[in-house]
Amino acid sequence: MNGPGIIDTLVALAHCPVCGAARSSLTYHRPQVIGEALFSCGAAFAVANAEIIPSTLCPAPSHVAARVLNASTGAEE
Ligand SMILES: [Zn+2]
Repeated sequence: MNGPGIIDTLVALAHCPVCGAARSSLTYHRPQVIGEALFSCGAAFAVANAEIIPSTLCPAPSHVAARVLNASTGAEE
């Protein structure tokens, strides 16, 4: 799917697809097929070159990884 349909996919993202945090803002322009969705976790997904790209990575996986590393050493959070 490309063209305006990719905008529909961006608009339908009410939550971060990585961690589920709520969307905090959404901007898009259908004729130009550009847009960006920001999420409360800090992640951002944008439409560029008719595809969705992660413009700011969701930090949640790094927090999960740090928790696993701490657990492996017996450190408390
Ligand atoms: Zn996220």
